[in-house]
Amino acid sequence: MVKRHTQATVNHVLHCLLTFVFIGLWFPVWMFLWWVSTFNAWRCNDCGVKNK
Ligand SMILES: [Zn+2]
Repeated sequence: MVKRHTQATVNHVLHCLLTFVFIGLWFPVWMFLWWVSTFNAWRCNDCGVKNK
């Protein structure tokens, strides 16, 4: 079994709570972080290898 590199993912539960706390003002930040984590290069959590 090949171990895949692990990508840090957006904690959607936390951001959902923050969106409620800030009456929706956090929503753009959430979407921005999600977009960045989805489309930008990221570094593996386990070994630090940078992926594109
Ligand atoms: Zn790795």
